[in-house]
This record gives sequence, structure tokens and C-alpha cells, in this order.
Amino acid sequence: MNNMPINPLSCATEGAGGPTGTWRSHRPVIDTNQCTGCLMCWIWCPEGVIAKEDRAINYDYCKGCGLCAKECPAHAITMIKEADHE
Ligand code: SF4
Ligand code: SF4
Repeated sequence: MNNMPINPLSCATEGAGGPTGTWRSHRPVIDTNQCTGCLMCWIWCPEGVIAKEDRAINYDYCKGCGLCAKECPAHAITMIKEADHE
């Protein structure tokens, strides 16, 4: 069995149009009391913006796709409208 660590193939970075999170309509918010640390959100996030260590989300590049919330087995992630977020 290969013991190589799993890491994202690429990391989000600023392009010509600036950070890609600026046009997000909904943002994922993790309820740390419900989170079991299974890392499914980290594995599934297509942007690689969820930190493996503490599941902190880099909102500069999160596009709000909702995949993390859909795949979280503990239902610990809620998608909140940006307009409702202070
Ligand atoms: S998928 Fe859900 S339970 Fe698992 S680490 Fe992410 S937020 Fe926590
Ligand atoms: S909403 Fe999409 S881009 Fe943002 S953290 Fe979740 S999976 Fe990643």
C-alpha cells in the first residue's frame, strides 16, 4: 500500500480577474460542534480551499458550489446567502 499523503493537485491563486470568491452567491459555514473531522469536505472541494488541519475555508477563492455541504456525512456545513452574512 502506498503511504503517500493525499494533497490537492493545485492550489487556488489569484488570476487576472482577481480572487474568484467575489462573485459567490452562497458561502459554506461549518458548524464545528457537528464536525467529526472526517475530511470528506477537504477531499471533495474542487477548489482546494478547505484546510486539512482545521477545515478553515479560504473565502477569497471558494466559489460557493456547495459540494462540501452535499458530501458532508455529518450535515455540519450549511450554505448561507452572502446577503445574509454580515
Ligand atoms: S465533511 Fe463535514 S464532518 Fe467531515 S470534516 Fe468536513 S465539515 Fe467536518
Ligand atoms: S462551496 Fe465549493 S468551493 Fe467552496 S469550500 Fe465548498 S466545495 Fe469548496
